[in-house]
Amino acid sequence: MSDTDGKKPLGLSGGARSGRVSQSFSRGRTKSVVVETKRKRVVVPKPAPQSAAAQNAEGGKREKSLPDAELERRLKALQNARAREVEDEAKRQQDEKDREEERNRRRAEAEAKEREEREREEALRAKEEEDARRLVEEEARRNAPKETPPSDPAAVEAAVAAGPASRGASKPLPQAPRRKTEEEDRGAKRATERDSERRSGKLTVSQALTGGEGGRTRSLAAMKRKQERARQKAMGGQQDREKIMRDVQLPETIVVSELANRMAERVADVVKALMRNGLMVTQNQVIDADTAELIIEDFGHRVQRVSDADVEDVIDTIDDKPEDMKPRPPVITIMGHVDHGKTSLLDRIRKANVVAGEAGGITQHIGAYQVTTESGAKLSFLDTPGHAAFTSMRARGANVTDIVVLVVAADDAVMPQTIEAINHAKAAKVPMIVAINKIDKYEANPNKVRTDLLQHEVVVEKMSGDVQDVEVSAVTGQGLPELLEAIALQAEILELKANPDRPAEGAVIEAQLDVGRGPVATVLVQKGTLRQGDIFVVGEQWGKVRAMENDRGERIKEAGPSVPVEVLGLNGTPEAGDVLNVVETEAQAREIAEYRHQASKDKRAAAGAATTLDQLLAKAKADKNVAELPIVMKADVQGSAEAIVQAVEKIGNDEVRVRVLHFGVGAITESDVTLAEASGAPVIGFNVRANAPARSAANQKGVEIRYYSVIYDLVDDIKAAASGLLGAEIRENFIGYAEIREVFKVSGVGNVAGCLVTEGVARRSAGVRLLRDNVVVHEGTLKTLKRFKDEVKEVQSGQECGMAFENYEDIRKGDVIEIFERESVERSLA
Ligand code: GDP
Repeated sequence: MSDTDGKKPLGLSGGARSGRVSQSFSRGRTKSVVVETKRKRVVVPKPAPQSAAAQNAEGGKREKSLPDAELERRLKALQNARAREVEDEAKRQQDEKDREEERNRRRAEAEAKEREEREREEALRAKEEEDARRLVEEEARRNAPKETPPSDPAAVEAAVAAGPASRGASKPLPQAPRRKTEEEDRGAKRATERDSERRSGKLTVSQALTGGEGGRTRSLAAMKRKQERARQKAMGGQQDREKIMRDVQLPETIVVSELANRMAERVADVVKALMRNGLMVTQNQVIDADTAELIIEDFGHRVQRVSDADVEDVIDTIDDKPEDMKPRPPVITIMGHVDHGKTSLLDRIRKANVVAGEAGGITQHIGAYQVTTESGAKLSFLDTPGHAAFTSMRARGANVTDIVVLVVAADDAVMPQTIEAINHAKAAKVPMIVAINKIDKYEANPNKVRTDLLQHEVVVEKMSGDVQDVEVSAVTGQGLPELLEAIALQAEILELKANPDRPAEGAVIEAQLDVGRGPVATVLVQKGTLRQGDIFVVGEQWGKVRAMENDRGERIKEAGPSVPVEVLGLNGTPEAGDVLNVVETEAQAREIAEYRHQASKDKRAAAGAATTLDQLLAKAKADKNVAELPIVMKADVQGSAEAIVQAVEKIGNDEVRVRVLHFGVGAITESDVTLAEASGAPVIGFNVRANAPARSAANQKGVEIRYYSVIYDLVDDIKAAASGLLGAEIRENFIGYAEIREVFKVSGVGNVAGCLVTEGVARRSAGVRLLRDNVVVHEGTLKTLKRFKDEVKEVQSGQECGMAFENYEDIRKGDVIEIFERESVERSLA
């Protein structure tokens, strides 16, 4: 207030306008003194038009100090001048007014636009009304002083140049001149005062109070128009002159607030626009792309439809140049038949290559480890249970293995799982090295292994082939250095390379939920270098590398290609085989993870829903005939869980099968027990235990929990349980056929068939089927079997008899009755 008052007199300073100035001051409490002195000065020396102007401006007060004649003369002169000028003045005013109006309108628009823009951005950034309001107020304050100068100098200039008559014209307000022509100077003076007031401090106050609207001293209607325009613009009206068109990326679905964000519009406006389209949504709701497209077009932006899958585009954009590729260690998986010594071999290799202090046992199991051969080559071994992990990882697209070491026991030669392993390796196009194990054993016959392998198109070097073979003993350690060198040689041939200088990409070898550390994943880095602090997406999870540990439990800051590391800082537990990609921002990581999660959910839902009637019938039939042993299974690591699932799902035949309702990694929880109870399933824990709530829930609900630490024990037990489910086999024996010769209606009994037994024997206790044209029309039992008048137990072939069906009357001459008996046979699973 006070500072605008202060500015005002400064703007109006100048002797000629002293009268007006003093008037202005006279409103001020303390400046009336100044008014007096100025007036005197004006009156005495100057009879000029300027003093007339001053006098006029000063109105009634002046009448006392001037002689009447002088006053009248001046008034007349003024009136004459006014009469002359009033016409062209009016015209000029009109033009001026129009121009001014147009200028103001544009300026107001520009300002509204600018403010709108700023508001929007601010609102989006802070998303809090508080902020937006503060901004608006600030804006108002800023507008006010800006506004004052352009109007004031105009008024001043006009007043100086044209004297009293022009004063009206000097004002930008349209109504002021009109009033002037109708009223006397006094009225005009007051109008001027009012205008000045409006233009100065008072207006600013009102501006501030009304939230900083415009700040132009236009009519109320003009203000309203301007407001309307601003509103329309915010709503995406036709005001596209200064609109910033944005390309809005639109996925298949979008959250309202995100849509607003991408358009750089206010969320509230977007919600309003949606409402106008008949959609009552909140800013956190998801809308589909079609609706969003309407809104985007409404706001005057361009739509850029993107597929949801496009969110993944941020990944994999790097083409490694050949010159960036550096040699990397090979990744080896050991495969082979059960008990041929895979685990022993891995242990031996590891122990032989870790520091002495750890030789007593494996201190850290992270599912993979790196060893250094005597010649200094680094080798990364995947420490996963056999084929299952290998295949399920491959199924997920994680081809992590460079070399397969096929372990074949020299005392056992090629066995079914050996063949399976060969097939897996071949399918994955991974080179093989044969480790003929247990060579220390007396009965070892390595040559049998070599010849056996020939049958499976594995020709080892000893047989003039190109597959390296090494005789080893996991027990004595014999041949192990040779095996490692063979691996190193194979790796050299493969010329394995990767670019370490790029965002990391890797595969999850194992993942688990650690009580103390949260979700933990062992990741084998495949490309680039994974560093602490990296943001990544892995399968449906994402995270930021909080810490990394190598296979010896040492904290490390970065891991290059072929290095297995345990990664902490995930938001959830990924699955073995999931691919990890480092991305730039957390938003990207989250977006991709969410997209994948949704996609897999949709896929599961689609798989559940898109069943045809045929499929449903087949399933219903299958369900009826196949007994299921449901289980819920929890394991310590993903690899074991998957291996167990694959093993138990193989149990069974056409009639009995094991159904894994749920499997996972971590302790058995209450929800596992609930699920098991609902389906009458036992809960199997492999190297995990039930937590306390789960234990008490299981006690209450009578759910069996079983713990195992050996996969084969587990599988055997489940096999036994499944065998228990095998219904005794029902065998059907056809014992006879009879032909219906006549149908009699017997009161009290119903329809009775007069038959001739054509084959075998008809037995009262047996089951019967009624065949019409070789189609079974009824299956049931007999109510009566009569020979002549007597009820009999059986009727031999070639004899006539009377038969009636239990609960079935529709029998016809010419129908054939099939007579059969069932016997049950106990069985067990192989
Ligand atoms: P996996 O099922 O393939 O992992 O086989 P294991 O490593 O569990 O070995 C099965 C059995 O064979 C164990 O009792 C081992 O002690 C034994 N074994 C493994 N390698 C050798 C070996 O080189 N020599 C002898 N004598 N026994 C071995």
